[in-house]
Amino acid sequence: MSHVPDVLVIGGGVIGLTTAYYAAKSGLQVVVADRQEPGWESSWAGAGIISPGNPARARTPLGRLKAVSAAMFPELSIELRELTGIDNGYICCGGLEIQLSEDAWERRRIASVLRQERGEGLTQLEVLDRVALHALEPNLADDLPGAIHFPGMAQVRNPWHLRALLSACERLGVVVRSDAEVRQWHTREERVVAVSTGRERLEAGAFVIACGAWSEMLLQLLGWRVGIHPVRGQIVLLNAGRPLFTRILQIGSDYLVPRGDGRVLVGSTEERVGFDKNTTEEALERLRQMAYRLVPELRQAEVERCWAGLRPGNPDGKPALGPVPGYHNLYVAAGHFRSGIHLSPVTGRIIGAMLQGCTPDLPVNAFALERFRPGVPGVSEN
Ligand SMILES: Cc1cc2nc3c(=O)[nH]c(=O)nc-3n(C[C@H](O)[C@H](O)[C@H](O)COP(=O)(O)OP(=O)(O)OC[C@H]3O[C@@H](n4cnc5c(N)ncnc54)[C@H](O)[C@@H]3O)c2cc1C
Repeated sequence: MSHVPDVLVIGGGVIGLTTAYYAAKSGLQVVVADRQEPGWESSWAGAGIISPGNPARARTPLGRLKAVSAAMFPELSIELRELTGIDNGYICCGGLEIQLSEDAWERRRIASVLRQERGEGLTQLEVLDRVALHALEPNLADDLPGAIHFPGMAQVRNPWHLRALLSACERLGVVVRSDAEVRQWHTREERVVAVSTGRERLEAGAFVIACGAWSEMLLQLLGWRVGIHPVRGQIVLLNAGRPLFTRILQIGSDYLVPRGDGRVLVGSTEERVGFDKNTTEEALERLRQMAYRLVPELRQAEVERCWAGLRPGNPDGKPALGPVPGYHNLYVAAGHFRSGIHLSPVTGRIIGAMLQGCTPDLPVNAFALERFRPGVPGVSEN
């Protein structure tokens, strides 16, 4: 690599690593700088659910992004495996949105609303009554009255996916710098020329802010107050010793994600507690009880581990993607909230194209930083 790389990606979570991967694939020389070992924050902590969508029918800009991104996952997973030999655990396992209401008509109404209104343009879903639900997943509680079945719902094993991405990046010549916390910008005439970590100055042709929940700090140093903020999510990992069900179970914003080996990831909370990654007994107990309610046999499962991660929340339901106004060579890819794993392939593709000087092949205006007024957190200009 020449002395000054084409791109410095700041932040080595799933967003930074995927962006680095696509940029390096297109021939750019890329450095990733993370303040710690890459892949240990929200991207590690998440559940890895990838909701299905239909790119041709998606109705909203975010819905389209999600639908396209979900559709990219199978191919990306194969690509990563061929390049690195690492399986990221991607599997289209299907999902069930559990209904607690007995009212079958209400279930059909919800399914129809979902079909019509979901931004992702979902077409493949099925309404299940009690009998059909238990035929599909016999170990679910007998008294669950029904569910909506999403056959296209998928999951990835976050730590495996991150390992595969990191290895793929390194094989493509990406240099990964750990222990490199970016603290300061050096700008000249509407360009960023370098950043400073505590110990050194790093130069590059272009820069990408991909620091997840911490992105706001770097944006604020440049006068942008976007309102990206940490939202804590707690998880309980149960181990039942054998698989009790195969589909992801969702109930409101909570879920159970079955891993193939009998482990079940139970999540999650949404808490505004700053940058605090501690777990709380109250939340963990609520999650455990929710799991036992849906799958009674889980009462016998061992509680293997608990953790919390900080999602990068955003103020208006959409991530910030694209150039940072005022600078010709600075981009942001942050604020993916509950969908950062899901949205990572399309984010990498979009920012990768921008770094090449190309127009992305998807409409991205809705995610532009211009929708916020500099200095006013979370206030959209349009
Ligand atoms: C409990 C939980 C469950 C989730 N479930 C899902 C799910 O099922 N599906 C889904 O799609 N998403 C899910 N998410 C959300 C998803 O994990 C995030 O949206 C995604 O990981 C964000 O990725 P990121 O790369 O932007 O941030 P992060 O993974 O947080 O990475 C940011 C990186 O930037 C580094 N950094 C920060 N500041 C600096 C600095 N100044 N200089 C250098 N480096 C810096 C950090 O060390 C870190 O490595 C979940 C999240 C949580 C917490």
